[in-house]
Amino acid sequence: MNVVALAGGVGGAKLASGLSRAVDAEQLTVIVNTADDFTLYGLQISPDLDTVMYTLAGLANPDTGWGMHGDTWQAIDMLKNYGMEPWFHLGDRDLATHLLRTQWIDEGIPLSVVTRQLARRLKVTSTILPMSDDPVHTLVDSDRGPLPFQEYFVRYQWQPVVQALVFEGASEAEPAPTMLRRLETADTIVICPSNPYLSIDPILSLRGVHDVLLNATAPIIAVSPIVGGEAVKGPAAKLMKELGIEASAVEVARHYAEFLNGFVLDSRDAALRPQIEAMGMGVLVTNTIMQSLDDRARLACEVISFADQLRPEKLGGCKLDA
Ligand code: GDP
Repeated sequence: MNVVALAGGVGGAKLASGLSRAVDAEQLTVIVNTADDFTLYGLQISPDLDTVMYTLAGLANPDTGWGMHGDTWQAIDMLKNYGMEPWFHLGDRDLATHLLRTQWIDEGIPLSVVTRQLARRLKVTSTILPMSDDPVHTLVDSDRGPLPFQEYFVRYQWQPVVQALVFEGASEAEPAPTMLRRLETADTIVICPSNPYLSIDPILSLRGVHDVLLNATAPIIAVSPIVGGEAVKGPAAKLMKELGIEASAVEVARHYAEFLNGFVLDSRDAALRPQIEAMGMGVLVTNTIMQSLDDRARLACEVISFADQLRPEKLGGCKLDA
């Protein structure tokens, strides 16, 4: 069973790692947002790709969700000795990833190939596909003026009030090689509980993606990142309010409604089920909070079984149920 997941960083990576256990890991493709990518100290940094890669490799820091488990901060400390004020967290081991990525990109190797090479060396057998080999940059229009994404997110800790989001370069960027075909031929498509506006929309904004999703034969399931009117982590709910959208799982379902077949709603929001069903999609109500590795696998398993219920010909459900 070929599963394609759309993901940003921490929320996306957690479900992706569950999916890599619920089906054969080789049958999972994770299409990852790269509109958060940026250059710092001359290094090409792809935070969401790295979060997904470290998570699937079992190397992620379980406390933060990003960065590497057991990493140290000597390079950052040395930058401070030089009088710099480093606001982006670059662990020493993590730096090696950025050094290699930057070298390979400078040699002319496309980001999708660089990512494949890095992931293979970390023994990740799922495919991690950056959404594009071309640069796309999220620009956050805010009450402090236009901010590059990482300044908004990390430097200012998502405190500026957002007025609009612009994905610079998205209309010229090509979707990564094989991405549209993988979506067309997928058996199940999962939109992870990533930030819909900051992590998933950049992927959806690429040429052809929207049409492929509208015409997909596979069931498309989204998992809500909004639980009880709040984001589990990060700015999703605050951002929704600032954009004039009610912070509710209902609005997340509405955001994706035109191509969704199923929506996974947290048990705490069970009362919202009829409103979402009225949009013409199936609803699965379950615990969507992923604290442990087992939580991730259990939720992924439920998503895979839910998708199977939504398709006319059954392909079999989650591997862990067998
Ligand atoms: P980022 O790029 O690191 O911010 O990561 P994502 O966009 O992939 O994920 C952020 C979203 O994940 C937030 O909106 C959170 O509410 C959501 N999220 C994080 N952990 C969980 C979880 O365990 N369950 C659910 N349902 N959502 C989660």
